Amino acid sequence: MQIKSAEFVVSNQDVAKCPSNTLPEYAFIGRSNVGKSSLINMLTNRKNLAKTSGRPGKTQLINHFIINKNWYLVDLPGYGYARVSKTQKRVFQKFITAYFENRKQLVSAFVLVDIRHKPQPVDLEFMEWLGTNIIPFSIIFTKADKLKPNAIIRYIEEYKAILLETWEDMPNYFVTSSTKGDGRYELLNYIDSINLELNQKN
Ligand code: GDP
Repeated sequence: MQIKSAEFVVSNQDVAKCPSNTLPEYAFIGRSNVGKSSLINMLTNRKNLAKTSGRPGKTQLINHFIINKNWYLVDLPGYGYARVSKTQKRVFQKFITAYFENRKQLVSAFVLVDIRHKPQPVDLEFMEWLGTNIIPFSIIFTKADKLKPNAIIRYIEEYKAILLETWEDMPNYFVTSSTKGDGRYELLNYIDSINLELNQKN
């Protein structure tokens, strides 16, 4: 897929106020600092479409971007940061949960995981929650440029072993680097192929 256009549409904390048309959408979520903004900018070939976070936990909004005028990329707030209050965490949980439970246009989520960190309970629990709620997702391993190829293979094997303790199969996954552009082609092609399939069905 070539990115011909990528535009910001709307930000809010209320799923009812998200765009009302039926274009397919893909939601990106992960712990703060995982590299989500960098990945979104890399995918869309824009320097500042998503704001890279100087201060983790600052952007507590559901952000919709329209890509090629035919699908939405949704930038969800980062989770798992220490600096926000319990009340803020509850608010966050509520609107994110509402988003995933109610957003019919959501085709798939992408859960971002920093390839340098050992599997984090908060990520594993979140994936389990998605599974329980039958929300399709893929894992995106970020910052792959930080590891050597062999270390990447070992890391994925370890991650897989942990996931297979609770999952029957390893979820679909992508290995990416925003600094090098790794995984861009695969991810965009994946989204493109789903969009094509959806178009053929309609
Ligand atoms: P967000 O909080 O998840 O949106 O994360 P950001 O995109 O703001 O990135 C957090 C930090 O990780 C920043 O210092 C980025 O420069 C760095 N970063 C993000 N992606 C990559 C990557 O692919 N490779 C490397 N080496 N650093 C990255």
